[in-house]
Amino acid sequence: MLRLLSDRGICDERVLSAMLRVERHLFVPIPLRNHSYDDAALPIGEGQTISQPFTVAIMTEALHLKEGDKVLEIGTGSGYQTAVLAAMGMRVFTIERIPSLLRSAKQVLDGMNVRYVSKSSDGTIGWREFAPFDGIVVTAGGPEIPKSLVEQLRVGGRLVVPVGSLDFQQLKIVTKTSENNDYAVEDKSDFKFVPLIGRDGWPESDG
Ligand code: SAH
Repeated sequence: MLRLLSDRGICDERVLSAMLRVERHLFVPIPLRNHSYDDAALPIGEGQTISQPFTVAIMTEALHLKEGDKVLEIGTGSGYQTAVLAAMGMRVFTIERIPSLLRSAKQVLDGMNVRYVSKSSDGTIGWREFAPFDGIVVTAGGPEIPKSLVEQLRVGGRLVVPVGSLDFQQLKIVTKTSENNDYAVEDKSDFKFVPLIGRDGWPESDG
């Protein structure tokens, strides 16, 4: 898996080393565990997925964070990326909208003695109590750059968020450039994420 990531252009040694240390199979449902080290997203229940390793790597690398930095993750899902960020020495805050997924993620993370702070709610509005963050990573795709998340970044901090339609998203790397919430955006090519559902995301479907 690590060879595959470096072949695809991931060169930050700290990301690669964290992904080498965090055992992905612990976050994968037992019947799918033999696929844990494939470069693929896998179902984790509730219609959600554990992100593809390449996606976790590219998003983590794009944050440009260092040990001790404060990072907010929106979409805990399986908890895998939470563990990768924590393994890099970051102070991790994570929000998941589906309570049962957060419960399972917590079980795995706590069993591995990972340090993080979590809650179940709509992450599109961020987590004001702990702001400003050095970086924010959104692991589900929304229709636009969530405004509250830009507000909760420190100047110079980066927000990594997939934005687009429900079918395809571009990974946006947003750097906050002023206290007035101005920002610069860099785009990475097409990705497919599960939908970001919430106030500044997609509406909840009734089906
Ligand atoms: N990083 C996770 C990715 C899980 S998929 C992993 O590797 O396992 C994305 C997650 O985002 C899903 O669990 C979904 O329920 C969650 N999500 C979607 N909209 C959200 C929102 N507004 N707030 C918090 N979590 C949200």
